[in-house]
Amino acid sequence: MRKRSLRSLDAAVLTGRRALVRVDYNVPMNDSGGIGDTTRLEGTLPTLRLLLDGGARPVLLSHLGRPGGRVVPENSLRPVASVLAQLLGSPVRFVPCTDTPEAVEASRSLPAGEVLLLENTRFLPGETSNEPGLGERLAQLGDFYVNDAFGTTHRSHASVVGVPTHLEPAVAGLLVELELDALSRVREAATRPFIVAFGGAKIGDKIPLMEAFLTHADRILVGGAMANTFLAALGMPTGKSLVEGGAIETAADILRRVPDLLLLPEDLVVGEPGAAGSARVVPADAIPADLAAYDIGPATRARFSAVISTARTFFWNGPMGRFETRGFDEGTREVARAAVIATESGAFTVIGGGDSARAIREAGLDLRVSHVSTGGGAALEYLAHGALPGLEALDEDEP
Ligand code: ADP
Ligand code: MG
Repeated sequence: MRKRSLRSLDAAVLTGRRALVRVDYNVPMNDSGGIGDTTRLEGTLPTLRLLLDGGARPVLLSHLGRPGGRVVPENSLRPVASVLAQLLGSPVRFVPCTDTPEAVEASRSLPAGEVLLLENTRFLPGETSNEPGLGERLAQLGDFYVNDAFGTTHRSHASVVGVPTHLEPAVAGLLVELELDALSRVREAATRPFIVAFGGAKIGDKIPLMEAFLTHADRILVGGAMANTFLAALGMPTGKSLVEGGAIETAADILRRVPDLLLLPEDLVVGEPGAAGSARVVPADAIPADLAAYDIGPATRARFSAVISTARTFFWNGPMGRFETRGFDEGTREVARAAVIATESGAFTVIGGGDSARAIREAGLDLRVSHVSTGGGAALEYLAHGALPGLEALDEDEP
């Protein structure tokens, strides 16, 4: 079901009126209290510019970290304001409150052409529990609602699902729209061959997503720690590798149901537990008892690349290995390069997952694939179910 877009709003809704915008500025902070990565801020600039150009006055709500419903100074959004102002080229005011008369007053007195950023919504006790009164009170901060927090849209929190029930219209911002366009193309309109690559560590969380692809992917490549669990399901020795014991039975069941769909590693790069010591390559069925598999091996890299190069649609979630450690990053780099080559030959390529997005950015290849999702869990949940709680709360598109 399509949601009403910010682009559908006319001057009568926009001009002079307060747009209460939920953004996802859950940015990593560096040691000196500055912002480690501005990707999430940049993602919202099109929405903010559209609002400012239309004469609306944007009031921003976001969370940062997991302060647990109380004020934690390290989780303040204050440092975000000046960085956002620089990126946007417009003044950004900050007030250190959210659910107070002062915050409402700051929203009412916001001049045209400026943006107001409020303090972390997760400082409020009712945010994550979606306390009904909180949604109603926060709704006084705006005249209409825009969700541009794609990475948080899978959360049933007050600022995501409560506030929009009290404001009209409640629409999808441009980042949310861009994400939904890319992800629904993968979910519902993938041209074939449709190749999927899975890796990473959280296999239990990712099984529903893999299930969603079993019926319409042409090939599913499996690397990363996820592959270890599948090797264990085949009865192979996995040594000290990370294996999710609780998921072995499900993995075995998938292998029984679709024996030819999954492509598992044929060789692996192993190392000492903790990724210490030197790396060496072993066949996938011969992981030594005292070592752990930390990456796919060179034969697997070549095989995975070759399959990815045949794709017309390619979706990738989860690093192929422990890519944060030198020596165990080659598989992930190779899949990133293969995604770029596929894109350059006309395939539609989408990367989802927080660590996968970081890996392709660090490889400097993020602008050379079709889409890198800004939402880890939200992207995976949307792909698996085609719906998200925060989307349900928005107005439907006019027929
Ligand atoms: P994403 O955030 O892209 O969805 P995950 O969070 O599931 O991905 O997994 C990413 C993590 O998985 C990374 O920290 C990486 O080091 C780890 N990982 C991948 N392969 C292995 C492996 N073979 N052994 C241990 N950790 C691994
Ligand atoms: Mg992750």
